Amino acid sequence: MSDCIFCKIISGDIPSYKIYEDKDVLAFLDITPVNPGHTLVVAKEHYENLNDLPEELTKKIVQAVKKIAPAVVKGAGADGFNLNLNNGPAAGQVVNHVHFHIVPRKIGDGYELWPGQEYGEGEAQAVLEKIKNNI
Ligand code: AMP
Ligand code: ZN
Repeated sequence: MSDCIFCKIISGDIPSYKIYEDKDVLAFLDITPVNPGHTLVVAKEHYENLNDLPEELTKKIVQAVKKIAPAVVKGAGADGFNLNLNNGPAAGQVVNHVHFHIVPRKIGDGYELWPGQEYGEGEAQAVLEKIKNNI
């Protein structure tokens, strides 16, 4: 994809801080990290989001994430990590080349995840049925 910033990173047209590379996958530092060491893991082939990503490649990216995440945590001197994939604009996806964020986290770093809310009467069952019908 000629206008995709991550494709340009993969081709080397734009510089990046590469962490890991194999035939199918590239991992590099996010340029605006939540915490230092925040890493992005991408497929080298351009697919917009997880819905489009072929099964084999999905497996390869997840395997790479599993390999890289502990190194990110250790290297960043973190205590844990969040694995995040913003799928689609509503979820905050800005770069339309599917990518996982590995965000190293330190105890007490102050970041909160989204607040939870309770289900109303019958709401859980209703949404459950609709989800199951779409699998
Ligand atoms: P998302 O909102 O999930 O699409 O995240 C896109 C991420 O890409 C953001 O966290 C950006 O900081 C990151 N990003 C954008 N351009 C670059 C770049 N040239 N090198 C590294 N990370 C980038
Ligand atoms: Zn791309």
